[in-house]
This record gives sequence, structure tokens and C-alpha cells, in this order.
Amino acid sequence: MLFQADYFDGLTARSQAVTVEVVTGIQPGIAFLADETKRAYPLSDIHVEAKLGSGKRIINLADGGRLEAGDIKPLEMILTQPNHKFHSVLHYLENHLAWVCLSLVLTLMTGWAFFEYGIPKLAGYVVNKTSAELETRLGEQVLGLFDHKFGYFHPSKTPVPKQSGIASGLHTLCASISDCPRYRLEFRDGGEIGANALTLPGGIIVLTDQLITLAKFDAEIIAVLAHELGHVKHRHAFRQSIQSVVSGLILAAVTGDASSTASGLSGFLLEMHYSQAHETQADHFALAALIKACLPPKAYADILLRLDPEGLNANRETGKNSEQPLAEQAEGLGNMLSTHPNTVNRIKPFLEAGTGCEK
Ligand SMILES: [Zn+2]
Repeated sequence: MLFQADYFDGLTARSQAVTVEVVTGIQPGIAFLADETKRAYPLSDIHVEAKLGSGKRIINLADGGRLEAGDIKPLEMILTQPNHKFHSVLHYLENHLAWVCLSLVLTLMTGWAFFEYGIPKLAGYVVNKTSAELETRLGEQVLGLFDHKFGYFHPSKTPVPKQSGIASGLHTLCASISDCPRYRLEFRDGGEIGANALTLPGGIIVLTDQLITLAKFDAEIIAVLAHELGHVKHRHAFRQSIQSVVSGLILAAVTGDASSTASGLSGFLLEMHYSQAHETQADHFALAALIKACLPPKAYADILLRLDPEGLNANRETGKNSEQPLAEQAEGLGNMLSTHPNTVNRIKPFLEAGTGCEK
């Protein structure tokens, strides 16, 4: 397919008549002979200016040259082919790959920053604006769901005198610190959940029979409850619930799967996967409270190691006497250091606090 045109080389005002061949195939474009030199341009290297009235059609070439022609139908035919449009897009992307990558990275970073910082900030704002009464109602509803709908908890089998002893131990600890938050202690058989203490919104602390059985002294139970009081103090359960719901709603909007919102929330409340920062905050509260209440901080380290089954295994591998207080075995936890740095880092300040009694 051919058409006639005037060629300007872009360096001089001189023009010369040329016969332009329209090349089709894998690499479509145009080619012509000027000054006895064959010139070929792929479609990506030419730009056809819009038609102005009945004037000549102007084709700008990538090297600064120009063609002027009365009729460029053969060229227009391949320019309007869908295949060419696809190649044009590819060509654009190739030339703008850096921008495409940059915008992709920016989009991902914005999304990550929103989940990492935006949602916690939003949750903090909601927590501060929500009344304690509303939070308590939410906590009671969650406990009701766990008790009756999901059947995670069953009525406690711990004898009432034992329960009273623990409750009064926690009361004494609370009375000895100035910043004790309002809480409600609930005893339950943890069933499959096993040995655990968890905090629900509204200051509800659930203590399972299994944790009571696991503890060797009441001080260990009070130490765990002191940690939970730290979560209550900073309204972590409520804060994290809001974060889970907001993240779930966003994921549901993106994926179209609304079930993730509800399952995300109940999963969080049950597993209590607080952020590292929340755990550290609760540990600080617990340590200060134990010292003020004249209880041994080491008790917290002992029960934390006993709660961590891998920590227990690591202890057995060290060959130490399992009857020996676990905290005393801490120096022998070489292999646990590598597998469980979090637990070891967490118990360290409790072991270093000595007897912890200020009186
Ligand atoms: Zn915690």
C-alpha cells in the first residue's frame, strides 16, 4: 500500500516528493526513499496530526522530519486497527514504565500506611468519643455471644471460696494502686480455649478455670489479672475491636466478602492478638501494680512461661527439673531465646525487678 507525500528532513526548508510504503505485519510502520537513503519508522515513531479542513495531512516523524500528503488512506487503515491500539498502549506503558511502577508503589504504600497508622488513629478517636456505658454494653453482648451463641465458655467449676480468694486478691492489688480502672471479673470454664485470661470491652476480664489450675500460687493469677487490668486501663479491647471492624469493612468493600468483618472481630476478641505496643503497655502496668501491691513480679514470668507450651518444651529440652520454678530456669532457655524472643523479652523486666516490695 502506497501514497505520495512531500518529505521535509527537519533541517532545511527543502522538500522532496517521495512514495511512502505502508508496512503491515508484526512491526507496522512506514518506509520511503529520500536522498537515496531508505527511511523506516514504526508506528510508534510517527504522529499524524488531526485533519484540518481540506488541507494536507501532516505526519510528524520521531527524528524531526515531516511528511505532507493529500491522501493517507492506506496509513489511516492500519492506524485504526485494534491491534495497533493495543500496541500503542504497550508502547506507552513501555515508555512510562517507571511512572507505572512508581504509582503502583505509591498506591500500595498509601494502603499500608492507612492500615498501619490511619485506622489506629481513627479507632483512637472513636474510643475517646464513646461513653464508657456504651463500651460496657458492647462487652456484655460479646460475653453473651461467647457464653451462649458460640459456646466458647461454660459455667465455672472453680469452688466459690477459691473464686472469692482470687477476687479479693485482685481487689487488694487494685486498692494499692492509684490508677486502677473499673473492671468486672468473670470466672468461666474455658473449654477448648483452655488456660487463658482475656479482656473484653467495658473492662470485663474473663478468667478460665484452666488458668487457675495451671497456676501454682494465687500470686501468679493476680499477676496475669494485673496485666489484663493494663488492657482495661488503656481500653485496648475496645480500641482493637473498632480497628478490626473498620479493617473488616474495608476488606469487605474491596473483596465483596462481608463475612470477614464479623469473623475478624470475634476471632480477634477470642485470640486477643494485641499489638506488641499494647502488650508492652499492659506489661508496664502489671509490673508497676505488682511492685506497689508488694507481690513478686517473678510470679508473672513463671505463669507466662507455663502458658507458653513451646516455652515449656524448651524447658524440658534443657533437662531441668520441671518442678523448679520456671523463672529460675530462665537462664537455661538458650534455645527458647531464638524461637520465642517475645516471651523472653517480656519476662525479663519482671525477673530483674527483684522482690518488688516497696514497703
Ligand atoms: Zn495481653
